[in-house]
Amino acid sequence: MTDFQGIINSIHDHLSKEEVKGVVASYIPELSKQSVNSLGIFLQHLNGDSFAAGDADIPFSIQSISKVLALSKAIAFEDNRIWQRVDVEPSGNPFNHLSLLELENGIPRNPLINSGALVVADILVTHLKNPKEDFLNYVRTIANDQTINYNKDVAASEKRTGYKNFAAANLLKSFSNLKNNVEDVLDFYFHQCSIDMTCAQLAKAFYLFANGGKCVNNVQQIPVSQAKRINAIMLTCGFYDEAGEFAFRVGLPGKSGVGGGIVAFLPNNFIISTWAPGLNPKGNSLLGMQALEQFTTQTKLSIF
Ligand code: GLN
Repeated sequence: MTDFQGIINSIHDHLSKEEVKGVVASYIPELSKQSVNSLGIFLQHLNGDSFAAGDADIPFSIQSISKVLALSKAIAFEDNRIWQRVDVEPSGNPFNHLSLLELENGIPRNPLINSGALVVADILVTHLKNPKEDFLNYVRTIANDQTINYNKDVAASEKRTGYKNFAAANLLKSFSNLKNNVEDVLDFYFHQCSIDMTCAQLAKAFYLFANGGKCVNNVQQIPVSQAKRINAIMLTCGFYDEAGEFAFRVGLPGKSGVGGGIVAFLPNNFIISTWAPGLNPKGNSLLGMQALEQFTTQTKLSIF
């Protein structure tokens, strides 16, 4: 039996001493308040066991990790029609890159870069009666945790400085790939990104992707085939222009956010989440990636 607790403790202790920790995001001013010294690791096994190290119970801004949750909800409404509006190819570009979107006539490369996530947000604004309330309830349901909430300060902070997202939304609108008002879609998108979660809550929220679409309380939330597809998109696009590097070093499907969170999983086995706010130049958590690389190397548990 693998000593998961011992392994994540030693990874945590070793990385806490690391001097190069990356840079905390500041383009969303509210995020710059985070400490570069925070470090949390949480492992949720599908057999029910869980293991925590460091700051695994401190809430942080999940940011782009929310894009996967939004996608899983949008697919429930649109099924395969969604792929007429957003592609499933890695972009090889940063998460907020714009020129490819114009070149490719307003069809985003994939749903995990910002432009693709804005199309997904547009679909949710169209179909949900009270988009922000209903989406939050969905996240609470799949994580089986009613305490999860938006962080209004983070949402407002991004609204004030989200120039590139305004540009992306306007570009999408100019190609008729946004059905609702630019302002409404962005307001929804900034809120979904502002959700605060702990590593422990994140691992539970992603349980359904590791478990064939069945969430932590055993309810089938999405069909097995859709879970398979979303997992493929996480593997190929979850880390933007570092998706190849993440697959190479870690070997798990997953998703990162500029709040410093990463959640990754081995299907039918476990979900592991990390939080370390210092980012590398590609916008992914520097220590989080190192922690996950060490974890899959030491346990020999990866999809490859
Ligand atoms: N809300 C952030 C943005 O749109 C999310 C980016 C991220 O986490 N990579 O810029």
